[in-house]
Amino acid sequence: MTADSSIAAPGTDYAATASEAYRAALKVIESVEPRIAEATRQELADQRDSLKLIASENYASPAVLLTMGTWFSDKYAEGTIGHRFYAACQNVDTVEALAAEHARELFGAPYAYAQPHSGIDANLVAFWAILATRVEAPGLAELGAKHVNDLSEADWETLRAKLGNQRLLGMSLDTGGHLTHGFRPNISGKMFHQRSYGTDAQTGLIDYDAVRAAAKEFKPLILVAGYSAYPRRVNFAKMREIADEVGATLMVDMAHFAGLVAGKVFTGDEDPVPHAHVTTTTTHKSLRGPRGGLVLATEEYAPAVDKGCPMVLGGPLSHVMAAKAVALAEARQPAFRDYAQAVADNAQSLAEGFTSRGARLVTGGTDNHLVLLDVTSFGLTGRQAESALLDAGVVTNRNAIPADPNGAWYTSGIRFGTPALTTRGFGAAEFDKVAELVVEVLSNTQAEGTSKAKYATADGVAARVHAASSEMLAANPLYPGLTLS
Ligand SMILES: *Cc1c(COP(=O)(O)O)cnc(C)c1O
Repeated sequence: MTADSSIAAPGTDYAATASEAYRAALKVIESVEPRIAEATRQELADQRDSLKLIASENYASPAVLLTMGTWFSDKYAEGTIGHRFYAACQNVDTVEALAAEHARELFGAPYAYAQPHSGIDANLVAFWAILATRVEAPGLAELGAKHVNDLSEADWETLRAKLGNQRLLGMSLDTGGHLTHGFRPNISGKMFHQRSYGTDAQTGLIDYDAVRAAAKEFKPLILVAGYSAYPRRVNFAKMREIADEVGATLMVDMAHFAGLVAGKVFTGDEDPVPHAHVTTTTTHKSLRGPRGGLVLATEEYAPAVDKGCPMVLGGPLSHVMAAKAVALAEARQPAFRDYAQAVADNAQSLAEGFTSRGARLVTGGTDNHLVLLDVTSFGLTGRQAESALLDAGVVTNRNAIPADPNGAWYTSGIRFGTPALTTRGFGAAEFDKVAELVVEVLSNTQAEGTSKAKYATADGVAARVHAASSEMLAANPLYPGLTLS
């Protein structure tokens, strides 16, 4: 298997070395709080024996994981590379500069910011960098001031009101958008006057003419592209065209599919980086790095993004930035392109596995790393389907589908992603088998009465599916050769 070798490589004694490192680390942890050592061991055992199909999860390499466990955690380094509010940041400077350099090279971006702690932080940095560039800076100029601290109380209130009264157009939640794209429960929804574009009711695809019409009518400051549950590719060149037509800044949130961009599965119009003014991502999903965020930007927005601290962030997680540098170095290796291609090929196989067995998929298929199964044809809610699958050791998450009849809590969909199991070495045949097992569980599960949560699965089905999936997992071990005892 080429796909899994990229996190077990290089060298034959790699697994033995990592095993030694983890055994030693667990001994140290055990001496202070044995229950945490135990939970850590158990988590590996559980992850090894679960069919992880959560589209936003993956497995980082031992090199990435080990990098996070160091004394870089102990250092404060507020500020930016070479310009810190704290002394003795020379090694953090090295780490952050390397993370940024790898990110720029990997994605072909003029500028990269490695400090965001997560995807939501990356989006907040991006939003405020755009507001600072497009609203605050011209506002200051108009008032003849250089710095916000130079404004009178009254002028500052006027500028603050302006900053808080901007418009954002993003993808609707039920067609796959993300809460951080201006939805009310999230802070972005309290910051922006938000409107959504959806997908075509027939095809389930983004209708660019409809996006253009919405943009022309709404005139947003920011057009957001990117998703968490849309199983298709996006034409970012078209999105940029639309943004330009209405004078909007194009922000792309590639949190989910950054691995496919890094691995050159998405190129040309489907590569967001050359088209977006600002691109944000997580580093722990398809990119297979540590839990964290990243912002890429054009020269125009770079200075404002670089002020993410103190605008949005406090001290950076230097140990995680170090791990980002390691993960991004891995993603620059040729093996990562094989991995990314396998992620996409496997999603095709999973989708065909479903459709050939009569299941209905939102948009009828996929051309990225995820598949959205409409479970109403099984007479189930997403909540029931998710639980029945979990009983059989199949880990997925329920997700709304367009115009979802069961709402955002119970939902009518199950989202599947291929990044994690592809890392373990699963190929097309294994993903077809996954589809078979999922269909076996769902077609043997029934809703109980009118409940949207209660269900019953026919006797023996969960155990049979669990056994079959355990067999596949054993044949494609997570961290092959890594032993804790
Ligand atoms: C996962 C995700 C986020 C949030 O990432 P966190 O690291 O969980 O904060 C933001 N945007 C999109 C599109 C995502 O899929």
